[in-house]
This record gives sequence, structure tokens and C-alpha cells, in this order.
Amino acid sequence: MTSNRTTIPEFIARWDALRARARAVGADALVVGGGADLYYLTGHDGHSYERLTAAISLTTSNGPPAVLVTPALEAGRIIAMPEVFETQRWEDEDDPIADAVRTLPETGVALVSDDLQANHLLAMQAARPGVQFRALNETLGGMRSIKTAAERHALRAVGARADIVHQQIQAGEVPLIGRTELEVKADIHDRLLAAGHDRVTFIIVASGPNSASPHHHPGSRVINENEMVLFDFGGTFNGFNSDTTRCVFTGPVPNDVAAAWSSLVAAQEAAFQAAIPGNRLCDVDNAARAALTADGYGPEFIHRTGHGIGTEVHEHPYVTSSNDTEIVEGNAFSIEPGIYRTGAWGMRLEDIVVIEADGPVRCNATKREIVSVS
Ligand code: ZN
Ligand code: ZN
Ligand code: ZN
Repeated sequence: MTSNRTTIPEFIARWDALRARARAVGADALVVGGGADLYYLTGHDGHSYERLTAAISLTTSNGPPAVLVTPALEAGRIIAMPEVFETQRWEDEDDPIADAVRTLPETGVALVSDDLQANHLLAMQAARPGVQFRALNETLGGMRSIKTAAERHALRAVGARADIVHQQIQAGEVPLIGRTELEVKADIHDRLLAAGHDRVTFIIVASGPNSASPHHHPGSRVINENEMVLFDFGGTFNGFNSDTTRCVFTGPVPNDVAAAWSSLVAAQEAAFQAAIPGNRLCDVDNAARAALTADGYGPEFIHRTGHGIGTEVHEHPYVTSSNDTEIVEGNAFSIEPGIYRTGAWGMRLEDIVVIEADGPVRCNATKREIVSVS
């Protein structure tokens, strides 16, 4: 992640909100390993390996700031923010687990982030047998699943950057026919940066029958006339991710494809309408699934409807038929139903939505049509 422009008051607000949510579920402490969660809370792009990096905090309001336990050799990359965390360096001859558990209570509940390595967690459990360790993301429905107004704004800003490239594809400005998927991927990579992303996270270019594989890896297949090309890509701007899918057809759109696409648009719109505070995430998935099933495409919709998005491309909350977590203001997730006809074509329509008090707002304005390009 690059260009961290998060301010100290924003970091403090994130910790305060997280501690309040943790207190509400009866937790006494937080243990955040390396990765996106740590970056979100401290601005430090640190990762645990055999050496432990973790931020540890009590959940008391107005308590001491968090303690960031770090290998001494990584400490030079940390930007000190004493209001947010105190840095505790350890040398290779020290026992970092002893440093880490010093901040934990003797008994109670500690919530642990997904990225804390198992060897470190097992050592902490052995050192604090009176503490019950629970999964932070499961308990809170995702630590970063409720976005502040500034974070929602960042998702809209980065979504608009991805739109620029989708609109170039729809306008026929990106040559397709006669190029390989990899050549088109390289072109899109440059365009995503030119559109203002500071990093490209992933690019799927899936042509012809390859489009029926939802996570196709672009390869040496040459794009032909009269076939489907699916584009799903994203990057980051100011630490937040874009992720949008559109499809084009390299010739006149055949009737079966046009019929499936219009069903897909209706399914995505039904899911969008269901994405209101107070509904559950499974209501969103069910809305898309019911619409596609009614039109006979149910068996060809082979994945969940969406995933949360923020500083990671995939994060909580997940939009599945079994997630009965309530939708609340500040959630942000993709709505991306698809239809996959093995051996023939596949299609997906994906926008990111942020949930405001009065309902969902799309972060993408690219037209939701299957465009014929030549
Ligand atoms: Zn995916
Ligand atoms: Zn996507
Ligand atoms: Zn997605």
C-alpha cells in the first residue's frame, strides 16, 4: 500500500471505534498481527514472519495507546505516532512473546486479527492460559467493515478512476481483436496508472470460452472477432481499492448473450435495491440469485454475490446466501452476479457500493451495458 495520507486524528478515531465495538462484544484486548489490519490501525506496512510484529491494546476507553511490538530491524520503517501507539522494539536474542503478552490482562477475552501467524498465537495462548483468544473478524463481522465518511469518499474516488479505463474499453479505444489477453492486460495496466491509481492490484482479461472461468488468468490466447471479452480489474488510490467488471462483445451481440446480459443487469439492480441498512447481507445475495433463477440462469451463477472492499480487495463483509449479518451504514461491498456457460462464454457485472444512512450508493458510473466493439 502506498501514499498513506491518513491523519493522526483518523487513526485515533479508528482505534476508538474498534475498541468500542470490541467492548460491546465483551472483549478486553485486541491483538493485531501484520498485514492490512495493522496498516489500517498504525500506518505501518509490517508483516509477521518468524519474527513477530503485532499491535496490542486494551479495549478500555481512554486507556493507554496501543503497543506496537516490532523486530528492531523493522523499526526504521515505522512512523512514530505516540498519540496512537508506543513502539516496543525487540532484538533477535529477546523473547517477543513476553513483550507482547505484557500488555494483555491475565484473564478475559482477546480478539485476534486473521493475519497473526499461528506460531505466534499458539505461543501467546501458552503464555496467557487464562485468556480466551477469539477471531476478531468473526466476532465483529469484520474489523474494517464499517467505513467512515472519509473512507467511503476514498472508495468513490478510486472507483471513478477504474471507470475511466472501462469507459475507454467501451468506447473502443483499447484494441482487442488480434491481440493476446496478456497484451491487453499490459495496456490496461498502464491505463489504470494513467487514470490516477497509485498501484494496480489485479487485472482479469478473459476472452471467448475463457470468460466462463470467473478467476481466469490472462494468457496467450488471441482475441477473435465475435466473442465475449470480460474485464475485471482494480488498483489502489490513497490506500483504497477499486474492483469493477464489465464485458464487451467483439461483434454484434448474439441473442442468447443479449438475453442473459439483460437478466444479469436486472439481477444486479435487484441486489442493489436490497442493499439497505436493516436488511441482511444474505438478502442481497438472495435478490440476485432469485432474479437469475427466475430467468433460468440460477445453476450458472456459481459464486457469492459480493465481498467487502476497502484497504483490501476482498474483506468482510461477504455477501453470501448464508451471511445473516445486518447491513449497516458504512458497509462497502461489491455486487457482482455472473452467468458462466462452460465452453461458450461467461459474463459478470460488478460495481462497488457504499451504504449510506438512506441506502446504497454506487462507486461506479460506467454504463451497465454489454457494448459491441470492433
Ligand atoms: Zn473475485
Ligand atoms: Zn472484480
Ligand atoms: Zn470483486
